[in-house]
Amino acid sequence: MLISNNVSLRGYNSFGFDISAEHFCSAASIDEIKEALEWRRKHNKPLLILGGGSNTVFTRNVEGLVLQVSIDQIKTETNNDSISVYAGAGVNWHHLVKQTVFNNQFGLENLALIPGNAGAAPIQNIGAYGKELCNNLISVDTMHRETFERLTLSKEECDFDYRHSLFKTAQGADLIVLGIQLQLSSMDNPLISYSALQEAMQNTSPTATEVFNTVCHLRQSKLPDPQVIGNAGSFFKNPVVPRQQVDELLARYPDLPVYPFSDKENKLPAAWLIDRAGWKGHRSGNVGVHNKQALVLVNHGGGNGQQIAILANEIQRDIKQRYQINLEREPTLY
Ligand SMILES: Cc1cc2nc3c(=O)[nH]c(=O)nc-3n(C[C@H](O)[C@H](O)[C@H](O)COP(=O)(O)OP(=O)(O)OC[C@H]3O[C@@H](n4cnc5c(N)ncnc54)[C@H](O)[C@@H]3O)c2cc1C
Repeated sequence: MLISNNVSLRGYNSFGFDISAEHFCSAASIDEIKEALEWRRKHNKPLLILGGGSNTVFTRNVEGLVLQVSIDQIKTETNNDSISVYAGAGVNWHHLVKQTVFNNQFGLENLALIPGNAGAAPIQNIGAYGKELCNNLISVDTMHRETFERLTLSKEECDFDYRHSLFKTAQGADLIVLGIQLQLSSMDNPLISYSALQEAMQNTSPTATEVFNTVCHLRQSKLPDPQVIGNAGSFFKNPVVPRQQVDELLARYPDLPVYPFSDKENKLPAAWLIDRAGWKGHRSGNVGVHNKQALVLVNHGGGNGQQIAILANEIQRDIKQRYQINLEREPTLY
């Protein structure tokens, strides 16, 4: 295991911000993770865990050790129609989805092309096109960053919610994800209830492979590629709003799209709120709001994380003022 000093993280974050880590280490096994944690303890350094850097906004150089968990094995066990797949935290998420669909192991097809690694997938319970990670998750294999204790958390213990989990709370913040156990199926019975997916599918009873291909096509045509223009995907969560407030908003904005959430609440599209407020295509120096996706903040080149944080705050303030809605940020800011 190699710990390097003063490492540029430009290639390790999807915004492409050119900041540096005081120390950096990529650990490909549990022993290497322990070694890195011991080194960090001995030198009394702060610790930052990193996957693919597609949901992280660096606003400054990182003091201490950036530890990238890169355990990348995939193990599969089959029992009749039920298939159990273990993916190490360093496995590229889209690679996992593609490989499982290709091997007739179904369930992840709607989650194709989400950037990042398997280890980060439970942190915000990744979701797209009507599916969330928790729909196929059995358990998460973790290690405590201080005690090195190994703990396997069941799906229920992870306390998953919309873009949320135990790992985003004080109770789970010290846990390093080593791998995830998923439940897949040999039954080719994909979920196509999500309206944008239904509209795009020619076939009303598609195969999982067709859903996979359609999701890839939709994402490639709609979302900016971080290799071309730096971004972290959706920058804000879709707000969940009490029904009474939704009714008041509908009186002012009759074309506001409204989605069911619970008995007393609805989910509103943050992209619509930001777009209607006039932010789409807005530019502040080298950063801005994408001109086709109001939910995506972008680095036009030469921008930095502080500029993104300032822009995000301005948008949040404006949305609060216009609609009395608090937009919650999706990526983690350092
Ligand atoms: C173009 C684009 C499209 C996107 N579309 C979607 C989408 O459709 N749905 C969706 O849900 N997300 C989406 N995202 C967000 C992102 O892809 C996911 O959040 C992804 O899971 C992040 O993975 P990562 O490995 O890059 O995480 P990182 O950015 O490296 O880390 C994210 C957070 O997880 C923590 N973390 C990472 N690895 C571990 C570990 N092993 N143990 C403990 N903590 C860890 C980090 O400390 C950090 O707080 C998109 C991003 C982009 C750039």
